[in-house]
Order: sequence, then C-alpha cells, then structure tokens
Amino acid sequence: MKRLSKRRIILLVLLAVLLTGLLLPQNFINPVQGANNDSYDKQTFWYYPWGASVVHKGVDIFANEGTPVRAATAGLVIYTGELGLGGNVVVILGPKWRIYYYAHLREFKTQPLRWASKGEQIGTVGTTGNAKGKPPHLHYSIYTLIPYPWRIDSDRQGWKKMFVLNPIDYLREV
Ligand SMILES: [Zn+2]
Repeated sequence: MKRLSKRRIILLVLLAVLLTGLLLPQNFINPVQGANNDSYDKQTFWYYPWGASVVHKGVDIFANEGTPVRAATAGLVIYTGELGLGGNVVVILGPKWRIYYYAHLREFKTQPLRWASKGEQIGTVGTTGNAKGKPPHLHYSIYTLIPYPWRIDSDRQGWKKMFVLNPIDYLREV
C-alpha cells in the first residue's frame, strides 16, 4: 500500500478542519439580553447613507447602557479592543468560518483566545466609537471568510455582500 505523503496528510487535515467549521450549527440567540425583534429596525441593513460606513453593514439592537451583550453563537474570541468607528469591539470566529462582530460596547467581559459559548456574556451595551452621542445600542455584523459571490447585487457597494451577511435573516428566527 502506498503511504500517504506528508503534504497529502496536511491537506486532508486542513480539509477536515474546514468541513468541521462549515458543519457547525450557528444556533443563534439575540445577542442583547432581553432584546427581541422589536429592538431593531428591520430595514436598516445596507441602508444608505450611513455616515463614514456609506451603507449600514449590520444591525443596531437598542437597549439601555450596560445591558449584557452575549455571544449570539459560540466561537473563539479573536479580538477585544478599540477599532475605529466600532469603538470597543469584540470579534469572534465562529461556525461556518464567519466573523461575528459586536461593536460600541461599554465594557468587555471576555478576552482574546477565550472560547465563548452561546449565551455567554462578552460585554455590555454602550455608545463607544461612532455611536457616541446616540442612543446606546449594539452594532452586530456577520462576515463570511468564504466569499458567496452569488449574493452580489446592484446595490451601492453590492459586491461586498459576498462577505457581509444580513444578521436580521438569522435574528428574526430566534
Ligand atoms: Zn450599526
């Protein structure tokens, strides 16, 4: 029997990791404690004009300042810190090789390289970044690392829709 080459084994392991990530279920919950489908505007995804972002690439879930923000789906925390317009953000790599982005937080309740289970508190609602002076809310975005080119449309910046998913598609089901 021919032995598998080292390169082939590495390739198979990578493929297995990739598939495992794709098969992990997302199992969403609303990331803001006590929030429901009335806590956000269903029309604001890709809304234009949206300041420096041009179009709105996520959903804003409104709640009182300090309300717990929870991981909407499980994953590995890859970043916590200040990030431009987002202010204090938590970035989680989760199921389907997607990046789950939580912005405008007041405080962090997690740290990089921690595994966040679904529902675990990762921060609190705030007004950091470009939410300063606005009603406190969580900005929540979902990005896919694997592009979905069939989602591109003729909207402004429509090509970015191969990476930016509409969180409302998932939240309305919880
Ligand atoms: Zn927003």
